[in-house]
Amino acid sequence: MAPLLQADNLTIAFGERAVVHGISFHVDAGETLGLVGESGSGKSATSLALLRLLPPGARISGSLRLAGEDLLALPEDAMRRHRGSSIAMIFQEPMTALNPVMTVGRQIAEAVLVHHPKLDRKAVKERVLAAMDEVGLPDPIRRYGDYPHQFSGGQRQRILIAMAIVNRPRLLIADEPTTALDVTIQAQILRLLDDLRRTHGLAMLFISHDLAVVAQVADRVAVMQHGHLVEQGAATELFRNPQHAYTRKLLASAP
Ligand code: ADP
Ligand code: MG
Repeated sequence: MAPLLQADNLTIAFGERAVVHGISFHVDAGETLGLVGESGSGKSATSLALLRLLPPGARISGSLRLAGEDLLALPEDAMRRHRGSSIAMIFQEPMTALNPVMTVGRQIAEAVLVHHPKLDRKAVKERVLAAMDEVGLPDPIRRYGDYPHQFSGGQRQRILIAMAIVNRPRLLIADEPTTALDVTIQAQILRLLDDLRRTHGLAMLFISHDLAVVAQVADRVAVMQHGHLVEQGAATELFRNPQHAYTRKLLASAP
């Protein structure tokens, strides 16, 4: 079967400067690919390219296919339909992604309405409550009308995850989703993401600078250094028998 996501020879440049150099990788339905590399190696540029959300002036070449469909060739309105429905994304900092003056229920509801504008209010609310429940937010009915600041950091990341999964995406891009959280909360969020992958057959591109975190969730791992993909393979194999010097260095410095 063809992979859910296939990136071939993906190159990204900001102006004259290439920051991602012809990388190729794939994500199969229902699996987690961990993309690891130190800060500045081009991980976030890669994730934004998948959603075609790079700033104007950035140039992308190569090919990106989602279930065979060439994302780079799609008109913008078709790409817009993919964002938040078939491909969803969560970031490091929940507070910057959430609107501080809108209730969380309303924010998740808007994520539904963008893609299902004709759904009636009751059905939207039911979906929102189900998503809040699914990501482990306590007491969804009572908390629906609360504001982001009334939740803890870990709960805010759960709110973002609820917004991401409420439209049942096939691929979730998680870019450093636990970096801003303390270790115990980090573990809970990783467990949640892994549960969602299993219960929904959700595929995940899990991005982190931290190999120890990637090791907890990834089925396969791709290692990036200075915009190059230097090694990729099954997680167990890559950790047991790293081929590239840079992978060995990352392993040696992981706790
Ligand atoms: P990572 O997520 O691995 O830390 P990034 O993808 O954010 O790395 O960045 C890769 C390189 O691209 C870095 O050198 C960064 O400075 C550069 N870069 C990122 N975004 C922009 C931008 N909007 N304009 C110019 N350069 C950028
Ligand atoms: Mg980044």
